[in-house]
Amino acid sequence: MRGWKIINPYQLEESDLIESTSGTALSKVKITKALLSLSDVLHFMGETDGENVVLGSSGIGIVSETETNLFGLEKGNRVYIEPIRECGECANCKGGDYSKCDQLKIAGDNDNGFLSNFALVDSGKLFLLPESVRDLDALFINQISLALSVVDKLGIQKGDYVAIVGANNFGNILAQLLIYYQAVPIIVTNNDEDLQIAKNSGLYYALGQEDNWQKEVSQITGARMCKSVVYISDCNIPVTKAFNLASYGACVAYTGVSYKNSPISFAQAVRKQLQILCINNGFGNTAASINLIANKAINLSHLKLDSTTYEAVPETLKNMCETLEKQDKVYETVVDLV
Ligand SMILES: [Zn+2]
Repeated sequence: MRGWKIINPYQLEESDLIESTSGTALSKVKITKALLSLSDVLHFMGETDGENVVLGSSGIGIVSETETNLFGLEKGNRVYIEPIRECGECANCKGGDYSKCDQLKIAGDNDNGFLSNFALVDSGKLFLLPESVRDLDALFINQISLALSVVDKLGIQKGDYVAIVGANNFGNILAQLLIYYQAVPIIVTNNDEDLQIAKNSGLYYALGQEDNWQKEVSQITGARMCKSVVYISDCNIPVTKAFNLASYGACVAYTGVSYKNSPISFAQAVRKQLQILCINNGFGNTAASINLIANKAINLSHLKLDSTTYEAVPETLKNMCETLEKQDKVYETVVDLV
């Protein structure tokens, strides 16, 4: 097994990976596609406190070795590999409450990601992909799972207005999910391209940098503003903008696909006595996310994606860094491994 491992900031090395034999019920998966996202780029730049691991925050592949009848898996199955696993050692894990693990292992961050020819994984983390789920859709299962966590933790009800600050691919997915649950997303962005993608995705209330967000949201909600607001930390928008769209005592979810740091001024949040929730994973939502894609609840065909090959990964990452520095944003890149 070989993979692109981060050694130092801006330095990748194609390393031989040790085939750990610890744990039971391991399956070997030939990785076919992986995703490079903002979290990988920030990790590459040394801007997160991730570990020296193989990058690639999402991946799919074909089962090449597995024990017979284990979890119904067979050699040749196309599978999604859940990129989050519980540590098994913290107090919550020992108490069996894995979803509250406080030291989660996250692929590409503190656990090996999927930029490798093979991965040896716990078979319980493999999910069979139905034919109706395309490879590209499957690479966004972790983002859909995170969006499901946001909907769940905010307790979104039918008819609720929900402001989403930041319209990257994750913001777009979350907005579509809210529509599926009959809520009313209002997505705001300072990026013209994302605004157009949001409109193409059928998001009716999409506001761009020319709009006065506070005024427009006030008009849309009949001056009530939003009792649920989602701030996408990957987007370069001041957090105060999210607080401005919240009603008194509202819930503001701070979330995103990366651990990007943003300076926060809490004055407005204190004035309105807002509740702030931090949400960083969609633990336990993988099966539900696959079902949502299979049922066409979310349409990912408008999302903007780049693509590259396994061999070109170091160059691609350098280019993604340059794009991030110039334009303050990068889109996900699909890496073809076969
Ligand atoms: Zn744990």
